[in-house]
Amino acid sequence: SLTLGIVGLPNVGKSTLFNALTRNDVLAANYPFATIEPNVGVVELPDARLLRLAEIFSSERILPATVSFVDIAGIVKGASEGEGMGNQFLANIREADAICQVVRVFDDGDVVHVDGRIDPLADVQVIETELILADIQTIEKALPRLEKEARKNKDVAETVAAAKQAQEILDAGRTLFSAQDEIDGPALRELHLMTTKPFLYVFNADEGVLTDEDRKAELRKAVAPADAVFLDAKVEAELLELDREDAMELLESVGQTEPGLDSLARAGFHTLGLQTYLTAGPKESRAWTIRKGDTAPKAAGVIHTDFEKGFIKAEIVSFSDLDAAGSMAAAKAAGKVRMEGKDYVMADGDVVEWRFSL
Ligand code: GDP
Repeated sequence: SLTLGIVGLPNVGKSTLFNALTRNDVLAANYPFATIEPNVGVVELPDARLLRLAEIFSSERILPATVSFVDIAGIVKGASEGEGMGNQFLANIREADAICQVVRVFDDGDVVHVDGRIDPLADVQVIETELILADIQTIEKALPRLEKEARKNKDVAETVAAAKQAQEILDAGRTLFSAQDEIDGPALRELHLMTTKPFLYVFNADEGVLTDEDRKAELRKAVAPADAVFLDAKVEAELLELDREDAMELLESVGQTEPGLDSLARAGFHTLGLQTYLTAGPKESRAWTIRKGDTAPKAAGVIHTDFEKGFIKAEIVSFSDLDAAGSMAAAKAAGKVRMEGKDYVMADGDVVEWRFSL
């Protein structure tokens, strides 16, 4: 499954957040036989539609989609030069599908900032610069070999051209993700460049900032089009010790309407370019993770490869139509249940029953 790699300068609250992510015990509860790597934190994607489906179908249980975050040791200035965590760190980021940077906004005299000042956007810049420098190095190192191979192989010639184009963008201080429309993504793939990955920013803030809409809008705008999440990592850790009612009270006291981990799950899912479809029955109501743009057979394959191979058609009703109708029979009577074939592109909130032959 796809993962977001958590990065950030030292002392910004990465461990605090990561502990909250690993302690919410989603996998242990729902997937008892899953093996969880120690550096992976999993959160459920909150989805109120599942509750309604479980009601309509009298489902015994609910299985939401999940989002996985991988803890990657702290980045320090000069990481691209092999200082600090250096190479291991960069290797770990390469394996993640998106980069989630925790940024310190909270001010606390007892917690030292590596650069001696609280300046979230400067911190964002530090990490971005390190990743850009690392990509420039990767390209510089690969080019001589690629250019030699390109004389014999036309495909490699395309990679060379794409790498040079990418180099110019990086030299201008831009990430390749921000220049998506200008690069040849497929030709660059084999270089595993880091700044092609989507970014997500988690601003770790206290109540003062969490309740300051202007300040949040300013930070949000500065990192757009990347997603921004605002939370208080320390509060998130405390929430897990409380029952739902006390947790909501604590959240409200810091100006939040939902747990930060919920917002984080949603933003992480969006950043990875994922969406869900739903299945429901007496056993379970469940969300399945697919990529945006996936066709029906591909989506069926998420449940079982045989579903994809033997795909015939899909019986689909949108959640909102089913919700309004109140039952599958009523939705059918109202003409809201469609049969879709193998070219159908899945829409968010499709409630599906697959028809396949084995
Ligand atoms: P890391 O080095 O990025 O992993 O940072 P840690 O999670 O170890 O946090 C560094 C210090 O900052 C710890 O003492 C935390 O308790 C504290 N800290 C983390 N998040 C917050 C926060 O939101 N507010 C405040 N005031 N302190 C925090």
